[in-house]
Amino acid sequence: MASELEPEVQATERTLLECSAEETAAKWLQATDLTKEVYQHLAHYVPKIYCRGPNPFPQKEDMLAQHVLLGPMEWYLCGEDPALGFPKLEQANKPSHLCGRVFKVGEPTYSCRDCAVDPTCVLCMECFLGSIHKDHRYRMTTSGGGGFCDCGDTEAWKEGPFCQKHELNSAGMEVEEDPLVHLSEDVIARAYNIFAIIFQYAVEILTWEKESELPADLEMIEKSDTYYCMLFNDEVHTYEQVIYTLQKAVNCTQKEAIGFATTVDRDGRRSVRYGDFQYCDQAKSVIVRNTSRQTKPLKVQVMHSSIVAHQNFGLKLLSWLGSIIGYSDGLRRILCQVGLQEGPDGENSSLVDRLMRTDSKLWKGARSVYHQLFMSSLLMDLKYKKLFAVRFAKNYQQLQRDFMEDDHERAVSVTALSVQFFTAPTLARMLITEENLMTTIIKTFMDHLKQRDAQGRFQFERYTALQAFKFRRVQSLILDLKYVLISKPTEWSDELRQKFLEGFDAFLELLKCMQGMDPITRQVGQHIEMEPEWEAAFTLQMKLTHVISMMQDWCALDEKVLIEAYKKCLAVLTQCHGGFTDGEQPVTLSICGHSVETIRYCVSQEKVSIHLPISRLLAGLHVLLSKSEVAYKFPELLPLSELSPPMLIEHPLRCLVLCAQVHAGMWRRNGFSLVNQIYYYHNVKCRREMFDKDIVMLQTGVSMMDPNHFLMIMLSRFELYQIFSSPDYGKRLSAEITHKDVVQQNNTLIEEMLYLIIMLVGERYSPGVGQVSAMDEIKREIIHQLSIKPMAHSELVKSLPEDENKETGMESVIEAVAHFRKPGLTGRGMYELKPECAKEFNLYFYHFSRAEQSKAEEAQRKLKRQHREDSALPPPVLPPFCPLFASLVNILQSDVMLYIMGTILRWAVERHGYAWSESMLQRVLHLIGMALQEEKQHLENAVEEHVLTFTFTQKISKPGEAPNNSPSILAMLETLQNAPSLEVHKDMIRWILKTFNTIKKLRESSSTSPVVETEGTIMEESTRDKDKAERKRKAEIARLRREKIMAQMSEMQRHFIDENRELFQQTLELDASASAVLDSSPMVSDTALTALGPAQTQVPEQRQFVTCILCQEEQEVTEESRAMVLAAFIQRSTVLSKNRTKFIQDPEKYDPLFMHPDLSCGTHTGSCGHVMHAHCWQRYFDSVQAKEQRRQQRLRFHTSYDVESGEFLCPLCECLSNTVIPLLLPPRSIFNRRLIFSDQPSLAQWIRTISQQIKALLVLRKEESSSNAATSKNSENRNELELPEGFKPNFHPKNPYSDSIKEMLTTFGTATYKVGLKVHPNEEDPRVPIMCWGSCAYTIQSIERILSDEDKPLFGPLPCRLDDCLRSLTRFAAAHWTVASLPVVQGHFCKLFAALVPNDSYEDLPCILDIDMFHLLVGLVLALPALQCQDFSGISLSTGDLHIFHLVTMAHIVQILFTSRPEENGMDQGNPTSEEESAVLSLYRMLQQYTGSALKATASGWHLWRSVKAGIMPFLKCSALFFHYLNGVPSPPDLQVPGTSHFEHLCNYLSLPTNLFGLFQENREIMNSLIESWCHDSEVKRYLRGERDAISYPRGANKLIDLPEDYSSLINQASNFSCPKSGGDKSRAPTLCLVCGSLLCSQSYCCQTELEGEDVGACTAHTYSCGSGAGIFLRVRECQVLFLAGKTKGCFYSPPYLDDYGETDQGLRRGNPLHLCRERFKKIQKLWQQHSVTEEIGHAQEANQTLVGIDWQHL
Ligand SMILES: [Zn+2]
Ligand SMILES: [Zn+2]
Ligand SMILES: [Zn+2]
Ligand SMILES: [Zn+2]
Ligand SMILES: [Zn+2]
Ligand SMILES: [Zn+2]
Ligand SMILES: [Zn+2]
Repeated sequence: MASELEPEVQATERTLLECSAEETAAKWLQATDLTKEVYQHLAHYVPKIYCRGPNPFPQKEDMLAQHVLLGPMEWYLCGEDPALGFPKLEQANKPSHLCGRVFKVGEPTYSCRDCAVDPTCVLCMECFLGSIHKDHRYRMTTSGGGGFCDCGDTEAWKEGPFCQKHELNSAGMEVEEDPLVHLSEDVIARAYNIFAIIFQYAVEILTWEKESELPADLEMIEKSDTYYCMLFNDEVHTYEQVIYTLQKAVNCTQKEAIGFATTVDRDGRRSVRYGDFQYCDQAKSVIVRNTSRQTKPLKVQVMHSSIVAHQNFGLKLLSWLGSIIGYSDGLRRILCQVGLQEGPDGENSSLVDRLMRTDSKLWKGARSVYHQLFMSSLLMDLKYKKLFAVRFAKNYQQLQRDFMEDDHERAVSVTALSVQFFTAPTLARMLITEENLMTTIIKTFMDHLKQRDAQGRFQFERYTALQAFKFRRVQSLILDLKYVLISKPTEWSDELRQKFLEGFDAFLELLKCMQGMDPITRQVGQHIEMEPEWEAAFTLQMKLTHVISMMQDWCALDEKVLIEAYKKCLAVLTQCHGGFTDGEQPVTLSICGHSVETIRYCVSQEKVSIHLPISRLLAGLHVLLSKSEVAYKFPELLPLSELSPPMLIEHPLRCLVLCAQVHAGMWRRNGFSLVNQIYYYHNVKCRREMFDKDIVMLQTGVSMMDPNHFLMIMLSRFELYQIFSSPDYGKRLSAEITHKDVVQQNNTLIEEMLYLIIMLVGERYSPGVGQVSAMDEIKREIIHQLSIKPMAHSELVKSLPEDENKETGMESVIEAVAHFRKPGLTGRGMYELKPECAKEFNLYFYHFSRAEQSKAEEAQRKLKRQHREDSALPPPVLPPFCPLFASLVNILQSDVMLYIMGTILRWAVERHGYAWSESMLQRVLHLIGMALQEEKQHLENAVEEHVLTFTFTQKISKPGEAPNNSPSILAMLETLQNAPSLEVHKDMIRWILKTFNTIKKLRESSSTSPVVETEGTIMEESTRDKDKAERKRKAEIARLRREKIMAQMSEMQRHFIDENRELFQQTLELDASASAVLDSSPMVSDTALTALGPAQTQVPEQRQFVTCILCQEEQEVTEESRAMVLAAFIQRSTVLSKNRTKFIQDPEKYDPLFMHPDLSCGTHTGSCGHVMHAHCWQRYFDSVQAKEQRRQQRLRFHTSYDVESGEFLCPLCECLSNTVIPLLLPPRSIFNRRLIFSDQPSLAQWIRTISQQIKALLVLRKEESSSNAATSKNSENRNELELPEGFKPNFHPKNPYSDSIKEMLTTFGTATYKVGLKVHPNEEDPRVPIMCWGSCAYTIQSIERILSDEDKPLFGPLPCRLDDCLRSLTRFAAAHWTVASLPVVQGHFCKLFAALVPNDSYEDLPCILDIDMFHLLVGLVLALPALQCQDFSGISLSTGDLHIFHLVTMAHIVQILFTSRPEENGMDQGNPTSEEESAVLSLYRMLQQYTGSALKATASGWHLWRSVKAGIMPFLKCSALFFHYLNGVPSPPDLQVPGTSHFEHLCNYLSLPTNLFGLFQENREIMNSLIESWCHDSEVKRYLRGERDAISYPRGANKLIDLPEDYSSLINQASNFSCPKSGGDKSRAPTLCLVCGSLLCSQSYCCQTELEGEDVGACTAHTYSCGSGAGIFLRVRECQVLFLAGKTKGCFYSPPYLDDYGETDQGLRRGNPLHLCRERFKKIQKLWQQHSVTEEIGHAQEANQTLVGIDWQHL
């Protein structure tokens, strides 16, 4: 390499190498001013080493830097040879008990859900495997880079903080000892000196901003005019823009530009040009000009080369420091000290401060180097971590401000280090108390959100893009706040209290800016013009949700804090809404003799806001007062008397009314933004601190006021007061039908209001509201989710709110309420509700959406009917309220409530037109049910002699008072019970009446015991019986109907069994109904079936009728009729390949005549088996094509199939197809019919005859080709040629097929050629027939392979589609010669024949080791008719078939013997016992003789026979399939059943002697000479000399690669994988080829390559060599299987990895441990082996159109 360097450079290098590190260090040790010495050294040498323009040899640069620059420093530091010094330091060092491994991008990290203090605590794989957590519930994620292993950090883990390895180092850790004690004074002093100088140097040079001037003490004496044009990274410009600009600016190729862009993106900067100033400046101006149009220009600097040199070395130094301190904790501490030492400029002047404060100005590469150094130094030293944290906190505001201005992502900002301090509990606590961190963070946050409205609230409307961008950045502050709060204090100091409350104040200020933000007003008349911005406000709310919850959690921990916080919150709320009654006229409402004053306010007319965080926080704190009993313990400390219930409830009530009105359709004109807001208000992500708290706030308010007053206010806010205060409402409305809409609206509002009352009384599952635990709450959520339907684990998790640790608490209770059902081959594991939990079902559960509610109702009623119970869904029994909320139950028995219930029931009884709805009634019934349950509970739990105040039953028995004189509620219920129209509610009313009676009894029994059966119940029972009978009758009718339908269904199923797509996908599943029937149709006696040769079993003529799926016409298949065709799909295949490195290089020149035994590239044909008329198909295909053209003109719309390459979907099953195969009768019989002779030649005779014929043909061919030149010569030569007897080479047989069939033969033949070779169609090409035979052979081989792999019998029941496909494919291939040129086919035959029977005319023939014998057999047999048709000597075609078969079989046996590798340990080395053994031995000896004993010495005959038998089986099986389909001879029954080797049956069927060597003996004479000629081939000799390899038999099965059991080991493997093209860079989307196991760098610019003139990603490129166009991959980071086919097709497939809940985790979002599911992997493997990948993609794309639009080729 050195020779390539210019001589001048070489000279400098020599002088550099002469520089001695030891001497320099010695000089430094003597120096008085060390700084000056070192700087001089650097000033002199750094530019010499690093200043070399585009650096071609980075390794050399590193070597020189180590030698000249770092070497002296190491010598100086150690005071001796560092090779000795460092090991000494290492030995003296006490290894750290912290792991601190810094994560690479994509590396797996593990967190323990049981023991981690928060989810940011993670372990590296090594520590995890050695920890106790591997048996806990852990979560696995892939690191985004940055961050380090927390092993050893006792604060991070509740249990097991050490892995086994770090446990050892933790011994004696309690005594915090100074690490410096392990170092000598000298070393300490020298380390201080040198660290201080070089750290200072690095910081100075990295933060240096001038472009052409160095710091004075580094400036060079003579300065050359060499500059770099340095391009910097930004997040504004796209890759494409940068690449395009660079090509223009610096005249580079696209490839170079991609290289530059990739490095800029990775390192943050890259020099794109080197030269004099002007040269570089010119490039700069082009770049700036080109990129400044829409955005700010790309950052470019023209920098003097010496500056760049020093900066590069600066970075090198920092990494060097990082590695040096790895030797010793002492050195590390010294470095920390140096870094944090305050400089001469006081505050913020330490090196660490300086780096942090210039962070946003540094380029990516520099940042990551110094961040890494911080992580391995400051963060690993507990003492300095604390000091560093303080510096970080002090600079916090500044750093965040810089970050806001910076456009780089947070991961490369120093602010991202916050997680390292803030999540450490003691540090966080210290920073709160000493640095007032909470307040700082919140204030900083507020500073960045400056846009406010007139009331000082945040305003997000009309946000510019820049503001939106900043808003996204500022959200990271909330994350910091979350980190600080995530670990809760166990004890409180006064300072902590004070600072927390200070922070709480700041937080309230923040919430105050949100209270009432984004107010909306109902739009009437016009629709709103522009959807208002709403997302920002909700984003803020969503991000703050956990923080708000955590604030409450903190408050709950300390009574004093809680009381203070409560007071503060109330004060702020009063501030916000204190004057809400000002200036408005109060109105007085009165119903039932109760009256209340309230304000005049209409949600539908005035401003209303969904954002009420202060009210909601107060609600949360109020519940805590109740839960912690502070409210009872210190009532005097609480401002309870200041609470004004009407004020508390006002705003939450407005918000709920808004939801009701939106639901009633009153806000339609306000557009989608409002609908979205309402959605999120109830959504699981927000509801905890929104909807839920509004309900709590109302509960709080109501529990403190007269329920009658509340109900009236509520009626008024719902704008329903008028309706209920005027008793004739119903009657009036039925008279005025014109107002139908309004009535409907009011009905909905009434329903919503009733629902709200149900919630207020019924929702008691928050600890503090009701007497429940957190467990009860989560249990209830799960019960209601599972009441809708059984759910998978992940679905359930999604429906539950997560806490800040991403836990739902579900695992602790799920077992109690649900059963787990395991997943099958598809689908997921499911949880099912335990039946005994059904009684806790509440139809009006407040977290149900409307859709969920109706689904749950339906599901629960169905369940009840299945259990033959009545279908009533009464309210469940509820837990009691906590005392603070206890009075809430009185709403149910309040006068106004009873009045409302009475009114609605009266409407129901009187049935006034529209002014009434069933839902209303249902809700009233539910409310009555709740009241009864409540009363029953009270009675049952009543302490004796206690006065019961809940007397609902008494109240509803009383009729209304004058003047209404309405009947009692009870009476109305009894009336309704018999109303015919209320069938659905009957069961519920009956339940109410029954419960009423029970309560009555309970009341009586409390005075007079015991309980006696009353008449009422008996009455009830009799109606019940009647009902039961009725139900039974209905059930019977239903059953009969069901049975009838089932019968119809199964009839249809039988009919369409082969049209069922599911079945197609499991192609080879046993399907007994399929082909067994078809197969046995020709009635032949079972005995001695023979598939070929003169003795072939004669099959009676069978007529075949098929129906066209397009026109439904039935037609018989004959030669003369119109062609019937099967839809077919041809594809290239490497599934059987034994050599994946081989693929067709130049298809135009490729000669497919001989298939190599490695089967490296085959052509596979598949079919769905659907039959059409050729002309019907033609018409169909034309219309598809026309439609596609029209579609493409209109818009660029993709389809799952590519019409241009002839693809279409089967019109019946939508299976992807690209051609059709004609259906034919056995073609052999057509030609054989004419010639039946008894006296047939032997093999030797036949070979002789054929050889003569070939010779004659070859002479004729030669003549013909020369005859074009001279016609005169022709006649002369002819005379010389002696034609064999009966051979008429001028005879051309008549084609027996109809034109339509001929056309289809050509069509399919051309398609096979076109797809198989990937060339343009050319029906004249001589390779067309070869491709047809090849596809036939290859398809048969692949099916034989699958059958063997699955141990299925050869002729067992195959699915129709396979059977049909093989039959038509074989017959087609046999008939194809009739449409090909006769000389061409004859020519192929001659050459194929010459491979076995030597002929001088050919030179380029492969040796027998390099021929796949089955392909040869098929080619010879199918080409033979072309020769035989001119032979009138009387030799029949079947004789030829048989001889060819025998000849090829013998060649294969020889092939096997050559390549067999007999096992060493012979069981039987004795004399051959069987006939076969001695025969094989003698054959083997003959081979040895002919090869000159080059063949290995004899193994035993037993072994040889065994390996021949095993090796030849696949060939025999394929041959049996081939002749079976060719000649239509039924398969022997023995071969239809599974069992052991069917060797003998096969031999019989194939007309072979069971002692295969009999063949050789029979034809000894001819065979000896043939074998001799085979043995003399030079390739065979080379092989025997061990100079080349050959395939041995049987060929092993091809399987997909083995996958590890645990998914994380795959992730780990992939994280160690780096992009092969961009020097050691981590790949972003490492993707594993499941076929060959290669790891690829997918979906990335760096690894794009050009393929057929297009840029394609690594995966697509790989499919071309590995899978000839199709591929199966595993995207490791996404845990997703990827199917690719061609450049445009692809789909994702579910991965074979499942978590413990039987679910896949595509995208690795949940992080549950994943394990290999072998069944699913087998399924994928099967798809591959069956060549169904492309078909699968087609189905997936048809099912999901978005898949079509993906640019698969870029993956
Ligand atoms: Zn570790
Ligand atoms: Zn460890
Ligand atoms: Zn654990
Ligand atoms: Zn048809
Ligand atoms: Zn089909
Ligand atoms: Zn591969
Ligand atoms: Zn790459």
